[in-house]
Amino acid sequence: MAGLPVTSGSTVSFPSIPAPVTSVLERLIAAGHEAALVGGCVRDLLRGKLPGDWDVATSAAPEVVASLFPGSSWDNSFGTVTVRAGSERMPIEVTTYRIEGSYRDRRRPDEVRWGDSLTEDLGRRDFTINAMAWVPIDLGIGDGRLVDPHAGAEDLRAKLLRAVGDPDARLNEDSLRLVRAARFATRFGMRMDPATEAAIRRHASSVEALSGERLQYEIFRILDATDSMEPPSAAFLLMERLGMLSVLFPELAALRGVPQDKRIPGDALDHSLRTMDALHLQDPMLRLVGLLHDLGKASTLANGHFFGHEEVGAKLAEATLARLRLPNRAVRRATHLIRCHMFAYRSDWTDAAVRRFVRRVGPASLTDLFALREADNLASGAQEPARGGLIELRERAHRELARTPLGTAGLAVRGTDLIEELGLAPGPIIGRLLARLLEAVVEDPARNEHATLVELARSWLPGELAAPDNRSRHPASVVQRRTS
Ligand code: ATP
Ligand code: MG
Repeated sequence: MAGLPVTSGSTVSFPSIPAPVTSVLERLIAAGHEAALVGGCVRDLLRGKLPGDWDVATSAAPEVVASLFPGSSWDNSFGTVTVRAGSERMPIEVTTYRIEGSYRDRRRPDEVRWGDSLTEDLGRRDFTINAMAWVPIDLGIGDGRLVDPHAGAEDLRAKLLRAVGDPDARLNEDSLRLVRAARFATRFGMRMDPATEAAIRRHASSVEALSGERLQYEIFRILDATDSMEPPSAAFLLMERLGMLSVLFPELAALRGVPQDKRIPGDALDHSLRTMDALHLQDPMLRLVGLLHDLGKASTLANGHFFGHEEVGAKLAEATLARLRLPNRAVRRATHLIRCHMFAYRSDWTDAAVRRFVRRVGPASLTDLFALREADNLASGAQEPARGGLIELRERAHRELARTPLGTAGLAVRGTDLIEELGLAPGPIIGRLLARLLEAVVEDPARNEHATLVELARSWLPGELAAPDNRSRHPASVVQRRTS
């Protein structure tokens, strides 16, 4: 394939290329450089879809690209310059060809060498459908030449996912390509080329060494299946079939075979996958929570029950999410929802019970928790996702929220009031008193009056002042502790 002249390939018209992208190609070409669209954006244009991101390959060195586009940012290690084009500052990644790690000799910019380096660039890409380029002929009307040395366009038509060149060599270079294979196969509803599939099976264990950040990116692309032919579960099932799931997510793979007593057949893994699919497309993080919400079931099954699986599951999920290098905030959101997901509402709950529930869940997490439960219900075979009084509980929760403070900020006293009116010194005791006052108000909202709360706090003072936490602030306790 090497040496394929750039003049080969059919003329393809893409009039839908946005103006900012055209302007970047134009400016590079006007400055005497070669420039082509490459990779996923060419594939998407061929599919008749508007690409989510744009990659341009060029003969210009990164510093030249950076000087042509003031305000662009340049990542030295990859030779990629991110150009922000047009009034909408659309990000366009412009990457320089490299030959054996150095830029090609631009003193001899003949067509054939350019063709060579383009072919070489395409040969380094993962799958044939991602290894096409589009070289502009007339940007005014969107005409260009499709450079497709690996017959990616044909594979795209035939819905065949095939590695570029020798699959073993490709997968050996970068194990992320195994996960990408699962992603592309489900996104485009493709079958796997047998040689590529066999190589993936051989290399399945290599995904263990993937960095959490790279894995996170691919997994989130799978979860955010807005433009996918198949739901995210298909990608996870494919990863399981190809031997990757037990390496990437052993806790999840362990749910295979764990029996479920649900209206629809399937084990705990099937149920988890269904829950993920049933969650909102636009919230991949919540979908991940759905996927992981029952991780605790593999180790808690006894006498037909999964006692305490939400607590065990939250811990397992924490480890899984930490491996994906998710920010702590996201991990906390996920584990909290998993911990809370087993509530069992009944209409005879008192208003105070509803308030305690809202307090435990936290007002900000209610919407997520109800969404998770609805998906869980659907994934259990329920006809009615809001089964279990969810609609009633939601209404009651919002009613209580409107009339009762469910955080200390809503109390009719502040910490400073307690300090002044009870003659206390600032310290942990203030936080403890406020927390107890909140409990008291959650039990009975009528107590939320300044005088009532101050008197209530006063009545607790003797006990609170004797609390171990408080004593430890006293020098005498320091002496005591040293002897123990
Ligand atoms: P998407 O539409 O989801 O962005 P994509 O194919 O554009 O899919 P990107 O991650 O944006 O994927 O990468 C752009 C292009 O870079 C790919 O089409 C492919 O040619 C190449 N590429 C990306 N990652 C790899 C990799 N790990 N190995 C080889 N080539 C890759
Ligand atoms: Mg892309």
